Amino acid sequence: MAANGKLRIAMFPWLAFGHMIPWLELSKLIAQKGHQIFFISTPKNIDRLPKLSPELASSLHFVKIPMPHVDNLPENAEATTDISHQQVWYLKNAVDLLQQPMKELLQSLALDWVFYDFVAYWLPDIARQLRIRNGFFSIFTAPFLGYIGPSLVLINGDDDLKTPEDYTRTPKWVPFPTTVAIRLFEARRVFHLITGNESNISDFYRFGHILSNCDVIAVRSCKDFEPEWLNLVEELHRKPVIPVGQLPTTDNDTVDHTDTWRSIKEWLDKQEKGSVVYIAFGSEAKPSQEELTEIAFGLELSGLPFFWVLKKQIGPADSDLTELPDGFEERTKGRGFVCTFWAPQLKILAHDSVGGFLTHSGWSSVVEALQFKRPLIILTFYSDQCINAKVLEEKKVGYLIPRDEEDGSFTRNSMAESLKLVLVDEGGKIYRDKAKEISGLFGDRDRQDRYLDNFLTYLQTHNFEKGHI
Ligand code: UDP
Repeated sequence: MAANGKLRIAMFPWLAFGHMIPWLELSKLIAQKGHQIFFISTPKNIDRLPKLSPELASSLHFVKIPMPHVDNLPENAEATTDISHQQVWYLKNAVDLLQQPMKELLQSLALDWVFYDFVAYWLPDIARQLRIRNGFFSIFTAPFLGYIGPSLVLINGDDDLKTPEDYTRTPKWVPFPTTVAIRLFEARRVFHLITGNESNISDFYRFGHILSNCDVIAVRSCKDFEPEWLNLVEELHRKPVIPVGQLPTTDNDTVDHTDTWRSIKEWLDKQEKGSVVYIAFGSEAKPSQEELTEIAFGLELSGLPFFWVLKKQIGPADSDLTELPDGFEERTKGRGFVCTFWAPQLKILAHDSVGGFLTHSGWSSVVEALQFKRPLIILTFYSDQCINAKVLEEKKVGYLIPRDEEDGSFTRNSMAESLKLVLVDEGGKIYRDKAKEISGLFGDRDRQDRYLDNFLTYLQTHNFEKGHI
């Protein structure tokens, strides 16, 4: 640490865009306080990040680490949103090949701290060898971390976790009412990914190794929103768990949206205040053809104006293409805006005409919506989305679309009813009110600053120089 107390910190997020954005947000906030940040990623990922304001240039440094080659991974796979689950496996294998270059890089940066995501399970060991203090920065919420539980169970393999059905049971260490946070259809969608096979390292192993070997767990969370879960994570892992605030996004535009935003804004301006449903499922999740059809007919039936960010591809093969029902666009002309490109989500959510957000409950989307007081209608697909949704449902800021627990199906009627409930019906006023009430926990800058200062004080007072090893 420099004599003036300024830190040198490296950040190494997982390559998915939904991870990079909150990591960048945290990096910007720390750099604004004059600390030196080294944001490490592959060249293509760094090139697709939003541009920084010039005043950050002297404290936030992008460091490009070359993407290793692995077979079966298409060109550009690390920097696209059109990637299959199988390819995500290969991408993780590729990141595992970065161990030696990463060691050399970290050594050359004279760091006080390094923070990593859940994928680079080998990084705590490297940091320890280099005598660099290190932490896991979790963009996953405290409820998700609490839910996946004690690391040793995960590393050694849990006898109870043999089937997707087992995965849906609320773990014995969760003493809260969030029951059945993982639903059967969601468990089936991803079970093979989290449990792994001989040739792959499972996500459970990665999480387990990281959580048990890091010095500190920093979480995108705040005590006022989920105190009991933060305490649970601390109890489970017996190490400091520091909430860094919800990191409300300030700018996530990766492309110059000047012209497109003009046409989007023109359309939004014509709609009544609070009337539009905004629909987007983040950078990875994509509805199947059946789901997409029901959403489309549900929108038609609801009669509500909508702005829909639609990804047509669910996987790399042409057979994975999904299509809107015949005549949908003509029938909803004027009332609906279907956007097939990367949308300026933050700007859209900030617009007054948006009255609710049909979301998969990826945490960045949730933070972005709630900072602008938009209530949520939730359709989850897998991973942390399910437990996020349960917590949001308990807090009454989100309404979960009723689905068949076995196969996850839902009807166009329930889609239409859910949208109307949250946006217009008297019975759904509670969602609209609660979203307003809670928005300060997500978007308030002073609160965010307090969390950040608390985090930085911890980093400054716990380093090798001070003997806290
Ligand atoms: N996003 C966007 N335009 C799009 C789709 C997504 O700007 O067309 C952004 C969105 O604003 C959010 C991020 O991508 O910042 C998605 O993150 P989230 O955690 O919601 O979902 P994930 O992609 O991790 O599933």
